[in-house]
Amino acid sequence: MKGKKILLAAIAASALMLSACAGGSGDSGSGDGGGDGGLIGVAMPTKSSERWIQDGDAVKAELEAAGYKVDLQYAEDDIPTQVSQIENMITKGAEALIVASIDGTTLSEVLQTAADADIPVIAYDRLIKGTENVDYYATFDNFLVGQQQAWTLLNGLGLTDLEGNPVDGAPEGPFNIELFAGSLDDNNAFFFFNGAMDVLEPLIEDGTLVVKSGQTDIEQAATLRWDGETAQSRMEDLLTANYSDGDQVDAVLSPYDGISRGIISALTDAGYATGEEWPIISGQDAEVDSVKAILSGEQYATIFKDTRELAKVAAAMAIDILAGDEVEVNDEETYDNDVKVVPSYLLAPIPVVKDNVESALVDTGYWTKEDLGL
Ligand code: BGC
Repeated sequence: MKGKKILLAAIAASALMLSACAGGSGDSGSGDGGGDGGLIGVAMPTKSSERWIQDGDAVKAELEAAGYKVDLQYAEDDIPTQVSQIENMITKGAEALIVASIDGTTLSEVLQTAADADIPVIAYDRLIKGTENVDYYATFDNFLVGQQQAWTLLNGLGLTDLEGNPVDGAPEGPFNIELFAGSLDDNNAFFFFNGAMDVLEPLIEDGTLVVKSGQTDIEQAATLRWDGETAQSRMEDLLTANYSDGDQVDAVLSPYDGISRGIISALTDAGYATGEEWPIISGQDAEVDSVKAILSGEQYATIFKDTRELAKVAAAMAIDILAGDEVEVNDEETYDNDVKVVPSYLLAPIPVVKDNVESALVDTGYWTKEDLGL
């Protein structure tokens, strides 16, 4: 709780810093240096997931409000495309780069070109690995995201509250659970899965939870490029191989809403129907279709990561670097990219279940009631 307060105070402070910056330099339109209308390159992975569209739009708006021009590019999850987009940004004279990588290990060469041209680089949401040429990292507390995903499952099964505290009169189980992880080229996938397993493993060991497939390694649970259809076919295989005897799946750990939708399709095709026997399914990103699925009972929970706040933090980092100001970070030990520990600013994720959809997502203006069909 104390940690959360500090974090919120820090977010508020960084928002203030940002608006101060925007006020001071918002209307000048030319020249070099901080807040003076130079170009900042923003590389995003794909438009196929809603969150990255919102991230891109929000970062662009923040930078433009501070007087910068923005080159915002999406690479449709194709690594060479992302590399050449970043090369182009450098050629066009970008003064800083904000990069949400597709594969965090594939950018070393292009980022060396950036470093040679003295262009600072901010890793956005996903850690860029294997290079010293990444200056700062703006993200969420990704281990906590994984823990929260597991706690939402336990909450749905009636075992704990949303912070993982046991509840009185909890059922004994055992419960059948299957596990999904994200894309192994994305460092976040490991943080999410490790955070979730930190919570789930003791319960697997004491028999409260049973993974009938036995697939408990991240390599077995992984979903290349976080693709919903890939997840759907793995779920179909898991059901055929392990649940044809009439046993039911009670819960599915899913690291991302798009994967959850694939899992839901596989369950529906296998004859599961919402109601008593429908499994508890986690998620992440509060995508519109998945929030609707939470309201209709198909998905139990998601993790809301306010992309507007992340955009503010990343934009403030770029603006501060270019102005020669100190960059605010709140974590200097967690994110080792195999060459160095990248100074980071971690935001707090928020679990969302049916009960707090309105307070977390509508009251904060993230989605409107109309968006969610409310
Ligand atoms: C992000 C998640 C997102 C996933 C798939 C991860 O790196 O942190 O928010 O669900 O990528 O796009």
